[in-house]
Amino acid sequence: MKRILFLLALIAGPFFVMAQPGAEPRDTSWKKIYRATSTKVNDLVHTKLDVKFDYDKSYLYGKAWITLKPHFYNTDSLLLDAKGMDIKEVSMMKGASKSKLKYDYDGMELRITLDKTYKAGENYTVYIDYVSKPNEVKAKGSAAINDAKGLYFINPKGEEKDKPTQIWTQGETEANSVWMPTIDKPNQKTTDEIYMTVPNKYVTLSNGLLISKKVNADGTRTDYWKMDLPHAPYLFFMGVGDFAVIKDSYKGKEVSYYVEKDQANYARGVFGLTPEMIKFFSDRLGVEYPWQKYSQMVGRDYVSGAMENTTATLHQESAYQNARELADGIGWESTIAHELFHQWFGDLVTTESWSNITVNESMADYSETLWFEYKYGKDKGDEQNQQDKQRYLSNPEDAKKDLVRFYYADKEDVFDNVSYPKGGAVHHMLRNYVGDEAYFKSLNNYLTTNKFKNGESHQMRLAFEEVTGKDMNWFWNQWFYGSGHPIVKIDYNYDVPGKAMVIIEQTQKTGKIFKLPIAIDVYNGATKKRYNVWVENKIDTFSFNYSQKPDLINVDADKVILWAKTDNKTAENYVHQVKYAPLYMDRKEALDYFAKKNMPELAIGLTDKFAPLRRSTITKLEASKIAEDPKVIEGIEKIANTEKDRRTKAAAISYLAKTSNAKYKSLYENNINDSSYSVAGAALEGLIGLDASKAYELAKKYSKDAKGDLGDVVNETIIKEGTEADFDFILKRFDDMPLSQEKLQAVATFAGYLEKVQNIANVKKGIDAVIKFRNAVPEQFRGFVDPMITGALGKVGKAKGKEIEDYISNGMK
Ligand SMILES: [Zn+2]
Repeated sequence: MKRILFLLALIAGPFFVMAQPGAEPRDTSWKKIYRATSTKVNDLVHTKLDVKFDYDKSYLYGKAWITLKPHFYNTDSLLLDAKGMDIKEVSMMKGASKSKLKYDYDGMELRITLDKTYKAGENYTVYIDYVSKPNEVKAKGSAAINDAKGLYFINPKGEEKDKPTQIWTQGETEANSVWMPTIDKPNQKTTDEIYMTVPNKYVTLSNGLLISKKVNADGTRTDYWKMDLPHAPYLFFMGVGDFAVIKDSYKGKEVSYYVEKDQANYARGVFGLTPEMIKFFSDRLGVEYPWQKYSQMVGRDYVSGAMENTTATLHQESAYQNARELADGIGWESTIAHELFHQWFGDLVTTESWSNITVNESMADYSETLWFEYKYGKDKGDEQNQQDKQRYLSNPEDAKKDLVRFYYADKEDVFDNVSYPKGGAVHHMLRNYVGDEAYFKSLNNYLTTNKFKNGESHQMRLAFEEVTGKDMNWFWNQWFYGSGHPIVKIDYNYDVPGKAMVIIEQTQKTGKIFKLPIAIDVYNGATKKRYNVWVENKIDTFSFNYSQKPDLINVDADKVILWAKTDNKTAENYVHQVKYAPLYMDRKEALDYFAKKNMPELAIGLTDKFAPLRRSTITKLEASKIAEDPKVIEGIEKIANTEKDRRTKAAAISYLAKTSNAKYKSLYENNINDSSYSVAGAALEGLIGLDASKAYELAKKYSKDAKGDLGDVVNETIIKEGTEADFDFILKRFDDMPLSQEKLQAVATFAGYLEKVQNIANVKKGIDAVIKFRNAVPEQFRGFVDPMITGALGKVGKAKGKEIEDYISNGMK
């Protein structure tokens, strides 16, 4: 699963920390509850479902035939998860006939007394007739829950004009038992078949293969989906809607994309790399893609980022991009790789408990680095890994959490920056330590040993130990079963002639000392000598003899260690590093240093071989003392004219736009119709800078097709420059902006415009639009969003008087 809420994905730092559900200190009794793996009394064997949907009531009418067997000990009872259902009948199947069974149901769990004692391995099938009511599910008798309904009816009665009618399910962690009785634990596996009866106009998607379709007399159709390989209940999926299905293939297997029809033309632009990804992961793991097909669906109002249901991944709407957006790059590519990799790590071998989620999520997270490295080169992979490290290091609270976590308040809590980016960065270190060949052979060993079963982190360790012949407990105890990371200070000493000393001090306050295998490169000119050392004490000193004083000593030369460091290199060292040290992080660290010290060497970054470094250099130059240096301007002009990477080109044009120099007019005119929104947006910024009086006209002219950066420039300009006569247009422009960080920022500008508006009815309409946006922001972000909105509207109230002030305070209630 990938958790991305609209705002969460876009808003940095403090908001994220504040907004994290469960962050507020409440009941801490969970700290004493060891979260053990669920005991297996009965094992699921096969699940057969026959379901129909009631769109008016948002109900599912279901019949389930569940085949089970006692796991080891004899048993005469069965406990199933069945959340918020009406249970109509529970029977034992005897051939084709049924005999009623006694049961007890508390709204969450269904306790069934079997007709006799069953022996280990003895299969039996229970039949359950039930009604699922996802919107009425109450968690343990409390209020209705929104985030674990399992089954979601989107616009079921068609009352919302611009929204399609869809149904989709979301199982992880234990929510599929809202729509099917099951043992809803990750350490269960079952084959399945589902008969889904839906209006004939819709297509359906589920796990495995679509075996048959039957049109019924009442205008419905029954689709029969079959999954003949065992998978965990949380990976079951149903999707229903008016989708276009675009089909690719991989080795004869269907690879398909379910998108809304108006997105059909762009589906391959977004998802088209999937077959290549399947091949890459299959080859790298030495385990062929294990399932019958691979489909991806984009669902409306999806509650998560994306979910790796077996053979049927569901993505949120952010996956959609039009052709112009795609010109700036595939925004969803890492998520597509992430969910696909789960088909091995998560679906083929499944975590046996939520405590061990690292065997699913750290792997899926790391697959993003693996894919980028393969597809776009080592710099791109290293950039992804660096972002992982940064995401984890930026929140000090995360340093307190073990990666394998047996104590948590809620099982949802383990889906965090520890299980994902920290875990990914830990795997990057592990791969560096054992070497590529051993790393992938170990993953292969883990997958083939545990396929169609479950794994915990120890099984991963054993797989690595078996392949490498090395004891790996120290690594697992330190990184998987422990918390935190080293915080180091690195110093250099040349006091003794002919001897260079490197002093590495671990300064973390926890007292835990990390053991780290580290490469140190010692440079003279372009030549370097590598030393492999172990850091394992509070202070370690390494000395190297030299005949000529080194130009650079590069500690952690592979730039893999997950640590926070203060590296006391000199400016000369960094100048040498940017020139001779090969890695993305070598260059990035040097450029960061030049920016911090206002050194002219920062301009070296303009010719870096990796576009994102050229781009970040442009941003850093804007704020630097050498921003207007002719050499710098020359470098920026070159990028503005010849750069292939659209976003980097846009950054250069935007840089020049700020000069308001008329000589760039033709540059802007040549780029205003560029297919990429970022380039077009920067060009518009330039044109506006040259003729502020025409800004509004220009913005309006390009507003018809303006998303991304172009949309931002257009919105900002229109709202800022607009007159009273433009009210309807401006209101619509604001109203149509999707729920996003950009819209939150636009609130202030829009409120500024409302202050100028004289027509009180229009002012109220504008306030309504702002409050409508505010109400669409998920509850947990209100603490951050409300003060910003109240502040902006407060100014409108102040300007307009008591009637409007009252109107605002009523609306904000
Ligand atoms: Zn995931």
